[in-house]
Amino acid sequence: MAAVQHFDVIVIGTGAGGGTLAHRLAPSGRRILLLERGDYVPREKDNWSTKAVNLEGKYNTKEVWRDAEGRELHPHTNYWVGGNTKFYGAALFRLRREDFWEIKHWGGLSPAWPISYEDLEPYYSQAEHLYQVHGRREEDPTDPPASAPYPHPPVSHEPRIQQLSDDFARLGLKPFHVPLGVMLDERNPRASRCIRCETCDGHPCLVYAKADAQVLCVDPALEHSNVTLLTRAYVSRLETSPSGRDVQRVIVEREGATEAYSADIVVVSAGAINSAALLLRSANDKHPQGLANGSDVVGRHYMGHVNSVLMALSKCPNPTVFQKTLALNDFYFGSKEWEFPMGHISFVGKLDGDTLKAGAPAIAPGWTLELMAKHSLDFWLTSEDLPDPNNRVTLDRAGNIVLSYQPNNEEGHGRLIEKLKNLMKQQTKCRVHGHECHEGLFARSLYLGQRIPLAGVAHQNGTIRFGRDPKTSALDANCKAHEVDNLYVVDASFFASSGAVNPALTVMANALRVGDHLLARLK
Ligand SMILES: Cc1cc2nc3c(=O)[nH]c(=O)nc-3n(C[C@H](O)[C@H](O)[C@H](O)COP(=O)(O)OP(=O)(O)OC[C@H]3O[C@@H](n4cnc5c(N)ncnc54)[C@H](O)[C@@H]3O)c2cc1C
Ligand code: SF4
Repeated sequence: MAAVQHFDVIVIGTGAGGGTLAHRLAPSGRRILLLERGDYVPREKDNWSTKAVNLEGKYNTKEVWRDAEGRELHPHTNYWVGGNTKFYGAALFRLRREDFWEIKHWGGLSPAWPISYEDLEPYYSQAEHLYQVHGRREEDPTDPPASAPYPHPPVSHEPRIQQLSDDFARLGLKPFHVPLGVMLDERNPRASRCIRCETCDGHPCLVYAKADAQVLCVDPALEHSNVTLLTRAYVSRLETSPSGRDVQRVIVEREGATEAYSADIVVVSAGAINSAALLLRSANDKHPQGLANGSDVVGRHYMGHVNSVLMALSKCPNPTVFQKTLALNDFYFGSKEWEFPMGHISFVGKLDGDTLKAGAPAIAPGWTLELMAKHSLDFWLTSEDLPDPNNRVTLDRAGNIVLSYQPNNEEGHGRLIEKLKNLMKQQTKCRVHGHECHEGLFARSLYLGQRIPLAGVAHQNGTIRFGRDPKTSALDANCKAHEVDNLYVVDASFFASSGAVNPALTVMANALRVGDHLLARLK
């Protein structure tokens, strides 16, 4: 092995956490090394092919994990510069203020975070600016208070979605515009970087108009000469000093060789599953259960949300191109009839026949997949799953990832689905089929529920939780390992509970918060 090169900071992983942190640290002039196991996503037409992306899984990792029973898992996750933000739907939500408190759910308690919403609020505003979020405050009554407006106006609804929004409002609900990180300028379409296409959610953006961590954070960070990125650099292990109090060497597999790097501060941000796996792989005499794992929480409390895609079919087609603009949080904390949280209703990108083939639902009688996709409104429902210590990441004897997960807290999700079904039955009659359609809509409306399977690890979080008590958490409130003085974790691993909105903005905001802490520490 060649001599060990030393840096001020090493960041492992360039996704929502690592990429955002790199952006915050870059102007400091400190020597920063970014280690990323993936490469740049190639810019090619397949970026926007649903067949290549959804059916063939062209950009997914080919890694095979196992579930608790030893069955193969083909995880829907992506190893590239920018991490999963290259593929995300860019719905950039703040957690609700109450999500930071202990909340009683049907299935048990959602624990409090060691920081409050107010601690993270300034960083949410900064993250919304950095990721160019388009939205409108105060439409959603569950929205927490914000110190700044959204930097850009909301992405408008297309007519079918506007109609649905009006229907929901007529029923006394508070539909709102999804806060979105797309560089769309609707007032000046010729100059707009984003062309508002149908292949956004789940796809990389061919024209670099999605607010992802590569385009907005890693590439700008690399303009600073003090920042170095090594791609195809898989971090296999972290080695500590003899006392076990510091990470001394970061071991990297790159281009068939093993290399070692060192830094004053080492930040792990490899995604909640891979970060836990890395710490477990790094067990040594001083850390026999895995690095920073005296508490035995590393890998435990895996959460990924209770998610469903629900297609509401109707006789009328749904010609919407960019569907993911509308959401409802009216049932986030419960309802008149049900005192427990249910969750969040929004949309996935418009489904098409190829995408449906990848996870084919039962075909409705008289429909083809193509036809169904042309006539569906494609809802995305998220409810909170609770941190169960038995839902966990472990390693098998060969060092492969094993993900054990028993769904929990599902009752609220079932009730959320029922709520949506009832709401859809109350849509206004359509202009084409008139009253006939209205009557028929009830009968013809067909809901094909598809719970996202375990391999759908898009919202993975919670595996290296932060907290005040070193007995029950691996990280302190600054996301520093309780047991290692120069080790931090800034991906979605730190979550103490998962809330029921998409996680990425919270990961980004927290990375900026930890970034400020590191800048102060490095002074
Ligand atoms: C299809 C899809 C749609 C989504 N839509 C949304 C959405 O609309 N809104 C939202 O908020 N969230 C969404 N998400 C989730 C969001 O992308 C994640 O919450 C977010 O990216 C998590 O950030 P992270 O930093 O924890 O991990 P990641 O972004 O996954 O980054 C981890 C990085 O670490 C690298 N890495 C892993 N292991 C190693 C190793 N050993 N050595 C070196 N590098 C390593 C990986 O290659 C990757 O680049 C979506 C996810 C997917 C897959
Ligand atoms: S052009 Fe706009 S809508 Fe299309 S993938 Fe890029 S960001 Fe998404």
